[in-house]
Amino acid sequence: MNKGEMLYEGKAKRVYATDDPDLLIVSYKDDATAFNGLKKGTIAGKGVINNQMSNALMRLLEKKGVPTHFVEELNERETLVKKVQIVPLEVIIRNIAAGSFSKHYGVTEGTLLKAPTIEFSYKNDDLGDPLINEYHVIALDLASKEEIETIKTYAFRVNEELKAFWLTCGVTLVDFKLEFGRLSDGTIVLADEISPDTCRLWDSKTNEKLDKDRFRRDLGGVEEAYQEIMSRLESHIG
Ligand code: ADP
Ligand code: UDP
Repeated sequence: MNKGEMLYEGKAKRVYATDDPDLLIVSYKDDATAFNGLKKGTIAGKGVINNQMSNALMRLLEKKGVPTHFVEELNERETLVKKVQIVPLEVIIRNIAAGSFSKHYGVTEGTLLKAPTIEFSYKNDDLGDPLINEYHVIALDLASKEEIETIKTYAFRVNEELKAFWLTCGVTLVDFKLEFGRLSDGTIVLADEISPDTCRLWDSKTNEKLDKDRFRRDLGGVEEAYQEIMSRLESHIG
C-alpha cells in the first residue's frame, strides 16, 4: 500500500492518504504533549510502542466482538487503518479515581469506584476539550442517540476486556480515553489508539505508574515505564 499525501499532523501521529479512498496510514511519533499542548517533549521509542500496543489491543478487541479501524501493521511505527469520520468525542471510562475526576469531585486518587463511569468531552482543542453530556452531544449534532448507545455499549465492553487482560499482566486499568468513528456506510467502529498515552496503567502490587502520567507529572523513568508496560503486554498477549 503506497503512502500518499499527508492529510493531517496531530500531536502524536501523522495521517496519510493511500491509493484506496477507504484506507489511511497512521504514523506514530515520539512527540509527547500534555495540558492541551502547553507541555511538550519527546519520549524516545514511544511511537513504536504505542503503534504496536494499540494494534495488539485492537486485535484482541476484534476477537471479543468490538469492531475497530485496524487493518494491518505495516512496520514498527505505521499501520493501515480504515478511514473513518471521527465522532468528535473523547469517551472516558474510569474504574479508579485519578486525574481530573479526583480534582473535580474531591476523591483521593486511587479510590476504587463503586461502578465504572463514562464521560464525554467535546474533542475541540480551541475550547480545551470541555466535558459535555448526552443531551449536548445530540443538541450539537455530534452523534445521534442510537450512535451514543452503540458507543457506550462498546466502551464498557472494551473496559471489561482490557481490565481482564491487563490483570493477567499484573496491571490495573485505572482509566482510559477512546475515540470512535463512522465508516462510509455509517457503521461505528473504535478508532485512534489505545496506549500508555491514552490509558492510566498502574502496577497491581505497587501502584507504580506505567503510563504518560510519568511525563505529565515529571516523575522520571518515562521511557522505562513505556518499555516495561510493553514487555508485560508482549509476554501475556495471546
Ligand atoms: P490530535 O489530533 O489529538 O493531536 P493525533 O496526533 O493522535 O491526535 O492525531 C491523529 C488524528 O487522527 C486524531 O485527530 C484522530 O481523531 C484521527 N484518527 C484516528 N483514527 C482515525 C481513522 N481511522 N480515520 C480518520 N481519522 C482518524
Ligand atoms: N486522556 C487522553 N486524552 C485527553 C484527555 C485524557 O488520552 O485529551 C486519557 C488520560 O490518559 C486518562 C483518561 O483519559 O487515562 C482520563 O483523563 P483525565 O480526564 O483524568 O484527564 P487528565 O488528568 O489527564 O487531564
